[in-house]
Amino acid sequence: MLNKLSNSIYYLPNQDERERPTLGVICGDNYSLVIDAGNSVKHAREFIAEVEDLNVPPIKYLVITHAHWDHFLGMNEFDATIIVNTLTNQLIKDWVNLSFDDVSLQSYVEENKMSSLCMEVIKNEIPKRESFKLKNTDISFEKSLTIDLGNKICLIDRVRSTHTDDSTIVFVPNEKVLFLGDSAYGTTKNKLFHYDQDMLLPMMEDIKKYDAKDYLLGHESICDLEEMNVYWDELILANQATQSKSIESALERFKINNKREPNENELFFIKAFVNNQILKSQ
Ligand SMILES: [Zn+2]
Repeated sequence: MLNKLSNSIYYLPNQDERERPTLGVICGDNYSLVIDAGNSVKHAREFIAEVEDLNVPPIKYLVITHAHWDHFLGMNEFDATIIVNTLTNQLIKDWVNLSFDDVSLQSYVEENKMSSLCMEVIKNEIPKRESFKLKNTDISFEKSLTIDLGNKICLIDRVRSTHTDDSTIVFVPNEKVLFLGDSAYGTTKNKLFHYDQDMLLPMMEDIKKYDAKDYLLGHESICDLEEMNVYWDELILANQATQSKSIESALERFKINNKREPNENELFFIKAFVNNQILKSQ
């Protein structure tokens, strides 16, 4: 079910058990803009059917926040101009030539081009996949793009991020709503979940400059400004404490700095920063 955030913004919440990220729709007087295409044909179709029931202006634009499969594999279903940043465009091009039959999928998984989770979703949620070919995106931008949907301005910006190098956000100034995609998350490399410490403060600088009150993340329920600030503060404290591959010294430093033990989130972030130190030393 779509959730209504305001008279002009709706979103379909993430479904973690099905690897489905949050999808959003922003409606102006003339057109609507969708954020992220869904992880599959079925996900996209379910979303489009719900948007059609709203009787809002037609979907003219689709913004894909980054080139992770769960955010773009549904894009063929949209009769819309697909907007991405230049790096996302390059990365999605690698998927345009892929085939989706059993043998091909298995070989991609073995070559580490695709996760087995992605393969499972494709098998279950892309009908007629033997003939499925992902289409190309339409418009790519370098840093930012502004779109007026009819008395509804959307700012589409590429931001620095600890999740990917190709993260795009969508901000609606007159609603103070910020669609973040996965940009505020960490990422996994060599099976180590981590946050890039060098990118943390630049990312926060980029994201905090938007005067937002509601934040939509790819795999989270909606957050308000206060919750986002708690998230940033916990990340900062965990980051300040973690300066080596040793979790013990990070915990020690955290206690000295803050005169308390880290909470559950901070502990999670400390482990992720330790993983970052491990990856840096490899
Ligand atoms: Zn992602």
